[in-house]
This record gives sequence, C-alpha cells and structure tokens, in this order.
Amino acid sequence: MPLTTTRKVEESRRLQKRAESMIPGGVNSPVRAFGSVGGEPPFIVRGKGSRTWDADGNEYIDYVGSWGPMILGHAAPDVLDAIVSAACNGTSFGASTPSEADLAELVLAALPSMQKVRFVSSGTEATMSAIRLARAYTKRKYIVKFEGCYHGHSDSLLVKAGSGVATLGIPGSAGVPEEFTQFTLALPFNDAKTVEFAFQKYKHQIACVIVEPVVGNMGCVPGADDFLVALRLMTERERSVLIFDEVMTGFRVAYGGAQEIYNIRPDLTTLGKIIGGGLPVGAYGGSNEIMNLVAPVGPMYQAGTLSGNPLAMAAGCAMLKHLRNEKKEVYPRIDKLSGELVEGVGAAAKEAGVPICWNRVGSMFTWFFTAGPVTDWESASKANTAAFGKFFRAMLDAGVYLPPSQFEAAFLGAAHTAEDVQQTIAAAKQAMAAVKGVG
Ligand SMILES: *Cc1c(COP(=O)(O)O)cnc(C)c1O
Repeated sequence: MPLTTTRKVEESRRLQKRAESMIPGGVNSPVRAFGSVGGEPPFIVRGKGSRTWDADGNEYIDYVGSWGPMILGHAAPDVLDAIVSAACNGTSFGASTPSEADLAELVLAALPSMQKVRFVSSGTEATMSAIRLARAYTKRKYIVKFEGCYHGHSDSLLVKAGSGVATLGIPGSAGVPEEFTQFTLALPFNDAKTVEFAFQKYKHQIACVIVEPVVGNMGCVPGADDFLVALRLMTERERSVLIFDEVMTGFRVAYGGAQEIYNIRPDLTTLGKIIGGGLPVGAYGGSNEIMNLVAPVGPMYQAGTLSGNPLAMAAGCAMLKHLRNEKKEVYPRIDKLSGELVEGVGAAAKEAGVPICWNRVGSMFTWFFTAGPVTDWESASKANTAAFGKFFRAMLDAGVYLPPSQFEAAFLGAAHTAEDVQQTIAAAKQAMAAVKGVG
C-alpha cells in the first residue's frame, strides 16, 4: 500500500484542541504532545501489524509500538482473541483468577533469576515496589540509580541529571521535596568506579542498585559488559540488592531479557510493557528469600485493586506463548531487519553529510544526531535535538512514526516487513536532505 506523503492534520488538530481544554497538554503522558520535536501529534484511530492510521486517514509505519509492548504488531490475532474471550467472562473480580498463575509460570520459566513474581499495573509500580522491597530486605536507606535511566515516576526515582556524587539527590520534578530524594544517588551510567566510590562513602547503607541493563530511556545505550559484571560483583560483596529494570528489555532484546544476553542474574527484576500484551501490566520478582517479604507472607506492603486483571493476564499469556513458541524465528528475524534498517538510515545520513551515530541491541535502537559514540547521559545529551526534530517531522510526513524524542528508543517488531524497512530507508534519504544544514 502506498504511504501518504502529504499529511492531513485537520481532524487531529481538532481532537488535540478538544483534549487540551480538558487534559493537561491534551495528553495522558507528556512525550505524546511532541513538545521536543515540534509538529502536530496525530490521533491514532486504528492499528494493524506494523501500521497505524490516524483520524485524518494518514497511514504510518510504526516504530513506537506503544513504547515497546507491541512486539507482535498491532491487533495480533492471538492476543486479541485472548482478550475478547477473557472479557466475555467479566472484566475484574478483585479475587484470584487462574490466569494469574498462568502468566507467572510463563514469566518464571523465561527468567531463571526469578522464583516468585508479583503482578502490578505499570512499570512505575513495579520499580517503586522493588525499591521498597530492597530496602525492607537490607534494612538500608540509600539507593543507586544512573543518570539517563528512567524507572517510572515515583518520587525517589525521579532524580535525573546532577553530575556525579557531588550533586546527588536533586529532584527532577517539581513537587518532589528534596527530603524525598535525599537517599537517591544518581551516578553516571557505564562508570563502575563511581559506584565503587559510592559504596565506600555510604558503607553498609546502600539498599540497592537499580539499572536498565540496556538503557532505552536516554535513547538506546547498552550497558558495557564489564560495567554490569562490576555491578553484580559489588552488590554481592556489599550485600546490596541488584535490580535489573527490564520493563523495556524483558522479552524484547531476547526472550529471557537482557539478563539472558549478559548472562547475569540480578536479585530482583522488574517487568512491564511486553508482558501485558498491550494492556497495563507490570511485575517484580526474584528469589523466594526476598519475595517472601512481600505481604501477606511478609511485612513489605504492596497491593492493587486491579492487579492481576484477567484481561491483562490473558493478553500477557497470549503474547508470551506466541513469543516462546516462535522465539527461534522471531528474535533472529527482527534482529536482522533492525540491523538493515538502522544501517540503511545511518548510511542515508552519512551520504547527506549529517553527523550521526547509532546504538542497537536486537530490535531496539536509536539514531543519535551527534558524531558519538553515545555511552552515557553526558554523550547522549550532546545530540543535536533540533536536527532530530527536523528528521522526525520529515519522517512523519513521509508516513514513518518514530518516537517523538531524541532520547527514546525505537522498536521494530515481528509484523514489520522487508518492504517496511525499504520504505523507511527511502523516506530517510529525503528526510536527511532536509536535516542537512541544521546546526
Ligand atoms: C517504561 C518504563 C518504566 C515505566 O513503566 P510505566 O508502565 O510507564 O509506568 C520503567 N522502567 C523502564 C526501564 C521503562 O522503560
């Protein structure tokens, strides 16, 4: 099907205005408002496979995939069937249903580091609960996170930049009192020495280290092997809890997540996105020893009215069964296609003389508009966001929907075709010509 090259925006514009009158920025999650890239956000009315359609009838090749969950593409038949048949039996009971253990069984089989899992309704809840659990387990207060890593929007994790140990604990959001983040140490990513320094300075006080083993939330930035190994060794030595936040990478970079690729067993893992099959689900889990502290077995309280929701569990089960049964085909195929896409677009940039570098792990990737390399937040933040914005808007006009931020990973899924990739590269050749000259 031919892609639209001139976008109509009238209906989306009307919908945006209407939403803005009632919802802050017209959106229920900030990046959707296109603030950092400019242009008018399309209102999506339908998705199928690799494509979405907006309210004006424009068609897009979608590389956002709901920010990661849609690894099988939109409206995957087996996931839809599971949701519909679960819904026919009622949508929520606030009592246990069999599908919760079904999804738990699939998750635990995929991630050998986890012996028990608790389901929540978002990634934010998963990481917030994992932090609480790590503090309960160690009876310590401090937590270590890394600059540029996103772990949801709970108060103590909303600490972003702050360069190094000197400026620890600066709230990244209004409304978060300094006191709430005084135990959060935000350190540079891929820098094990600073972590060692923090463990010396805060001896026996660090409850946990939480990390995205492959970062998606400053754009795609893989953890260096020796960095992640060092985190594992240090946390073990210091009896601190190592938390891999695999909300994005779980079932994405490999069926068994980043921990499978790096062959590292964290103490706790947080999940979300793909495990919900496009419905709101998060999870955290680890060894029996740690997880048995969670209420009602133990004293760490955590709960949820809609947790373990039968529709969400059914969607997650269908998603994971599909991936498990076809993982030998799916993951190598999306890895190969992503490689072709990322390098094709990279070549288009180089041909146009646009400084660019890229990071990719399997089917998650980012083109950074800087000569690079990008290995941490400092190098990521050197990217030319104006150039990215121009690229983004030109791609959107050509029918390619990328994440509307330089600092978010893009995703390719099992529904994308070689033709999608070729069309995207063709669009990028034009877009890069438009970008050239943005200084
Ligand atoms: C998306 C994400 C979260 C937050 O999940 P929500 O469902 O948006 O609350 C946490 N950690 C990582 C690594 C993520 O990518």
